[in-house]
Amino acid sequence: MPVKDPGKVVVTTSHEQLPALDTLYTRGVANGVELERIDVKQLRELEPLARTVSAALWSPTTGVANPAEVVSALAQRVRDRGGELVMGAEVVAVAPGSVTLKNGDQISCGHLINAAGLYADTIAHWCDVGTDYRMLPFKGLYWYGNWPSGQLKRHIYPVPDSRNPFLGVHLTVTVNGRAKIGPTAIPSLWREDYGVVSGFSARELAGVARSFPRFLASKEHDVLGLIRTELPKYSQKHLVNRAKLLAPSVRPSDFKEKGRPGVRAQLLHVPTGKLEMDFVVEPGERSTHILNAVSPAWTSSLAFAKFVVDGITG
Ligand SMILES: Cc1cc2nc3c(=O)[nH]c(=O)nc-3n(C[C@H](O)[C@H](O)[C@H](O)COP(=O)(O)OP(=O)(O)OC[C@H]3O[C@@H](n4cnc5c(N)ncnc54)[C@H](O)[C@@H]3O)c2cc1C
Repeated sequence: MPVKDPGKVVVTTSHEQLPALDTLYTRGVANGVELERIDVKQLRELEPLARTVSAALWSPTTGVANPAEVVSALAQRVRDRGGELVMGAEVVAVAPGSVTLKNGDQISCGHLINAAGLYADTIAHWCDVGTDYRMLPFKGLYWYGNWPSGQLKRHIYPVPDSRNPFLGVHLTVTVNGRAKIGPTAIPSLWREDYGVVSGFSARELAGVARSFPRFLASKEHDVLGLIRTELPKYSQKHLVNRAKLLAPSVRPSDFKEKGRPGVRAQLLHVPTGKLEMDFVVEPGERSTHILNAVSPAWTSSLAFAKFVVDGITG
């Protein structure tokens, strides 16, 4: 399976970001991550396209892989060990010990693990779990570059704003060596908002319209700052120019190929309007509900799955 290990640099765009860079470094080291605090010269050697104010972080173990291929390989392992996978089957009801599929079939289960992403809150609510939470979807758009493979050597990330759950625009090396810029974090009007009207649901639109004012009134985040930075990213030129702050040679005319959008299953705590920034896992009767599995839940999925299963088996 193709896996690439380009490593990642985290750069600053102002002196004010240096304390946040140091916090990131201290936290990473405390969590056992291999990290190095580097200067401008070391950054230039690692990634000639990147710029920083006076210091940056270097994460040599950051890698990249194709998620669909990883999931297919895991699915094959399940089959090889005698497990059965039922694909393309919508769950329409759950009860302790059983789930009902859209075609009417019932599947019994000792313990249900609800990992339904954008619909995890809906399934949890059927079980009377996590009723203070609602999904507030955010759309992530990316643009691919026309640079030759290998021109961008490392992922280049900004220092995140710890008041908000989004990472900010960054440059990624794909598994094929291409350069990619994004994402946006633009409110989605319905959950599976992947195209112009694909997956449209009037009911979900009404749900988002009800939940959004809660977030807008929240004291937990820099909501105005978020609106000011995120909404203009609908413009490809603006989005790519944000990446220019991290890598000055980036030009909007080089990043014209639109990637497939992703929709972030972001959990909102309705009473406080807080966007949950950590994993949220809630227990139910003979069930466990993974309500917030935001990035990096894919990268950490094997460790995260072990954490969830250990919680069930004690
Ligand atoms: C733009 C973007 C960039 C990201 N980048 C990264 C990254 O760089 N690294 C990283 O680690 N993570 C990243 N993530 C996050 C990552 O995608 C998620 O953490 C991960 O997909 C969560 O996995 P999951 O299995 O919990 O949910 P999902 O991957 O959302 O899977 C849920 C599944 O449940 C199915 N489902 C829903 N409802 C039902 C139902 N009623 N019946 C049957 N099936 C149902 C869905 O069809 C779906 O297949 C990114 C996310 C976005 C949006």
